[in-house]
Amino acid sequence: MLNVFTPNRHANNVLEIKPEELKERNIKGIITDLDNTLVAWDEPDAPEEIIEWFRKMGEAGIEIVIASNNNENRVKLFSEPLDKSFIHSARKPLALAFQKARKGMGLKKEEIIVVGDQLLTDVLGGNLAGYYTVLVTPIVETDGFWTRINRKIENLIKKRLKRKGKI
Ligand SMILES: [Mg+2]
Repeated sequence: MLNVFTPNRHANNVLEIKPEELKERNIKGIITDLDNTLVAWDEPDAPEEIIEWFRKMGEAGIEIVIASNNNENRVKLFSEPLDKSFIHSARKPLALAFQKARKGMGLKKEEIIVVGDQLLTDVLGGNLAGYYTVLVTPIVETDGFWTRINRKIENLIKKRLKRKGKI
């Protein structure tokens, strides 16, 4: 049961995910979460280093789709200035948004990684849908309302994962 909550990899932040390493593994696309993954959940715009990360990925031919459970307004305001594809109200961990993102990129599952800061949405959803998952440390320790509830459950799962040496 715990395996569905176990990410394939853990990173301190998305900047640790390098285009060279993805290319070596034949990864051509990233489905990434927004809140507390790319930017603090209460921060509207991308910081310079994230813009730079997007640029480098683009140069390496790696596509990015932002898939967020947050509302249209939030996700659109963040993604549009960056000219990035996005899916708002994604309802992760359900598979639909991942499928939509993958079809939009025209890639196979093996060519995509799923990145996010939450076990219950990003990692669980990515794993169930059959993707390689990367868990990042949340950018800030605070969260929006629903995420705060998810985090309580997440903390219990994390304790068990740690006990079993899975993370
Ligand atoms: Mg998040």
